[in-house]
Amino acid sequence: MNLHTPYPYWLLKNGFLFEYPALRHPLQVDYLVMGGGITGALTAWYLAQAGVSVAVVDRRHIGMGSTCASTALLQYEIDVPMHKLAKFVGEKNAARSYHLCIEAIDKMEQICEELPFSTGFERKPSIYCASKKADLEEIDLEFAIRQKHDIRVERWTKTDVTRAFPFFQSPGALYSPHDGAQVDAYSLTHALLQDAMKHGAQVFDKTDVVSIRHEKTQVELQTNHGHTIRAKQLVIASGYESQEYLEQKVTRLHSTYVLVSEPIDGEIWYRDALIWETARPYLYLRTTPDRRVLVGGRDEPFYSPGKRDRLLSKKTQLLAKDVEKRFPLLAPLQVDFNWAGTFAETADGLPFIGTVKARPRTIFALGFGGNGIVFSQIAGEIIRDAALGKKNSDAHIFSFDRAKSSSYTA
Ligand SMILES: Cc1cc2nc3c(=O)[nH]c(=O)nc-3n(C[C@H](O)[C@H](O)[C@H](O)COP(=O)(O)OP(=O)(O)OC[C@H]3O[C@@H](n4cnc5c(N)ncnc54)[C@H](O)[C@@H]3O)c2cc1C
Repeated sequence: MNLHTPYPYWLLKNGFLFEYPALRHPLQVDYLVMGGGITGALTAWYLAQAGVSVAVVDRRHIGMGSTCASTALLQYEIDVPMHKLAKFVGEKNAARSYHLCIEAIDKMEQICEELPFSTGFERKPSIYCASKKADLEEIDLEFAIRQKHDIRVERWTKTDVTRAFPFFQSPGALYSPHDGAQVDAYSLTHALLQDAMKHGAQVFDKTDVVSIRHEKTQVELQTNHGHTIRAKQLVIASGYESQEYLEQKVTRLHSTYVLVSEPIDGEIWYRDALIWETARPYLYLRTTPDRRVLVGGRDEPFYSPGKRDRLLSKKTQLLAKDVEKRFPLLAPLQVDFNWAGTFAETADGLPFIGTVKARPRTIFALGFGGNGIVFSQIAGEIIRDAALGKKNSDAHIFSFDRAKSSSYTA
């Protein structure tokens, strides 16, 4: 599948950060991670840190799947608000999911601090705005349940919003001062893999897994170059292309559009907050370390890469207008980069991390939805724990079992 148009900002900004060989020989390893995006990188990093023998293969260059197209806001707030998520998975699991996302961002901060490479990680506040007055009820319900579960969030009135964002027409918002961040997911992926390699991980790109045979004691994979990989465990971290390995449809695909402005002098907006809203599909905004506005949204159901890409120019104009409406001082917004990408979401906004009966010795790490990167961190820890034979008391929240319930429809 073609996952995005050719020139996301991060690829142009960073170029080829590191080279990795294609796999040109047979390979035997304990854990084989199929997919060298942010999910595969975090998983391999956790496994290598724990002393597990691990290799990563990717059919593309490293990070050039969805990861290089990501806007990379790191939010503890899942696409499905907690009060709605509670209806899918129960209040306890919903609250735990939100807290796990908070912890995931903390842990990623720690990892990024220790990595000897630039990852673009920066702490940012986050604001979730009511798009219209009728959405205030949802904002209030969400505020109440987040407060009940000890999440540090403020309920902002229209006046509060206007004080911080003078032209913003929002009747109210939830402001999270502490628990958001942003990153450069492409750089972080390379940084994690470079570090994992220091701990023994092997990384191969331009290596396509073309067939998989699941046996009782191992998984046997064939590559496009005709080599065999034997692994005690397979991790499928193949992003939005993973659905082909699952019998049950668990995701919906969408097309999303992103623009990056030219650099802007001075403060762009209040505390460079991450901004998103109650409307669906929603608009999502952040700034970049080189002082640009990065805005994504104008999503629609994915039909084909061709149709997605033909809309890029029109969607870019609409996104620029969306920014100018909210921030008139930025008009006319000078667009430097734009791209279109495909992304997958699940019905409850949670990722799928776990096993399915049809594929023994295999664990899926599918960080879908607007928090995909945060979910990738959670997947990395769950898989590390499984490798060490350690019980992870949160793993059940993200298992495939929940998709068996009649209330779950992709
Ligand atoms: C435009 C856009 C904006 C986004 N914004 C955000 C955001 O703000 N915050 C956030 O948290 N998330 C965001 N996401 C989602 C996030 O980017 C994804 O969740 C994340 O990048 C997925 O990483 P991954 O490693 O699972 O998948 P990928 O990066 O796609 O990596 C999977 C890899 O598997 C490889 N692969 C597939 N099949 C095979 C095979 N058979 N053999 C070998 N290799 C294979 C692919 O080549 C690919 O490189 C956004 C996504 C898009 C597209």
